[in-house]
Amino acid sequence: RTRSSAELIQAEEPVLAHNYHPLPVVVSRAEGTWVEDVEGRRYLDMLAGYSALNFGHRNPVLIEAAHRQLDRLTLTSRAFHNDQLAEFAESLAELTGLDMVLPMNTGAEAVESAVKVARKWAYEVKGVPAGRATIVVAAGNFHGRTTTIVSFSTDETARAGFGPFTPGFRIVPYNDLAALQAAVDETTAAVLIEPIQGEAGVVIPDEGYLTGVRELTRRAGCLFIADEIQSGLGRTGRTLAVEHEGVLPDVLLLGKALGGGIVPVSAVVARREVLGVLRPGEHGSTFGGNPLAAAVGSAVVGLLKTGDFQLRAAELGVVLRDGLTALVGKGVVGFRSRGLWAGVDVDPVIGTGREISERLMAEGILVKDTHGSTIRLAPPLTITEEELRSALGALEKVLAA
Ligand code: PLP
Repeated sequence: RTRSSAELIQAEEPVLAHNYHPLPVVVSRAEGTWVEDVEGRRYLDMLAGYSALNFGHRNPVLIEAAHRQLDRLTLTSRAFHNDQLAEFAESLAELTGLDMVLPMNTGAEAVESAVKVARKWAYEVKGVPAGRATIVVAAGNFHGRTTTIVSFSTDETARAGFGPFTPGFRIVPYNDLAALQAAVDETTAAVLIEPIQGEAGVVIPDEGYLTGVRELTRRAGCLFIADEIQSGLGRTGRTLAVEHEGVLPDVLLLGKALGGGIVPVSAVVARREVLGVLRPGEHGSTFGGNPLAAAVGSAVVGLLKTGDFQLRAAELGVVLRDGLTALVGKGVVGFRSRGLWAGVDVDPVIGTGREISERLMAEGILVKDTHGSTIRLAPPLTITEEELRSALGALEKVLAA
């Protein structure tokens, strides 16, 4: 007998760490923009695995690439070469306009790797005295959950009880070039920011900020690391969010959608001078760059090369923005959006973000709250205009109730 949703949720309770607070839905299958629960109820997925499912659930091109690879070779470790990795690195370098790729698995690992690489670059190339390198980050950031990464988080929930922390980070307000300028000095290895802060509620900096960060880091002789793990790979209507200002960072962090919603794939992509500091034995990962990940990653890059997903996100982004604009004053107190990505601040009188998410779930729409009264919308980029309008309609209904 298969267990019901309620039974499965109850069964998790004693045996699964409580580090998440999921909506009470138990998904058992999915296709495109739709997921189905154990009882066969269907929901429109307006979260897309925090942007890991940009190309939809079980995208046929990606599933085929994965199947083909599953039938041939899945893992070598980097003790040997595999025949999929060259193409993955070549295609990713070409897509981003950078030179070299360090393949990892999760987003946090890519961030950790970039911190190590930036420090080594600072000592070997820039000439920062040993042990003195600093990295400047922004308040409100979200870069992952490892000890070093939460060391420079400003979210007390993410930090409390997890110290001692890794030193060497300076935190400045986001979207504040003067504060950034003041924090950068001869010890600065890198400035690490999200071009749009996703977890913070899709916080978009003023026009000119990313250009300013690029110019400032160039002048200061330090690296500009853009964490595009959530913002990248089509979400904002461009391949990369930094493209909205025509800016190319020295180091780009990718993850989530890079694995096509099938396998964890992340990467540090950088100029040769930067990733060139790594030599054998200094960094690695058993699964990083495995042939299954590389095959899926190459197929993801192939989808992005057509430009179709970016175009869709840009076009439907207008529908999303217009739909949300119409809800301002009708339960929405404010929102920020770019492409198919929005942070919507709901009037707290109507309900918390969690309550709104639960009410949307009852309407067959899956979203997730972030920070109190904000809900994040990030549907698969394969969503149709009709589906998007129905999600906006459900939001209107829930806010009016
Ligand atoms: N960086 C950013 C901008 C993210 O949004 C996330 C995840 O939400 C991460 C890093 C961490 O990725 P992962 O959960 O795969 O470790």
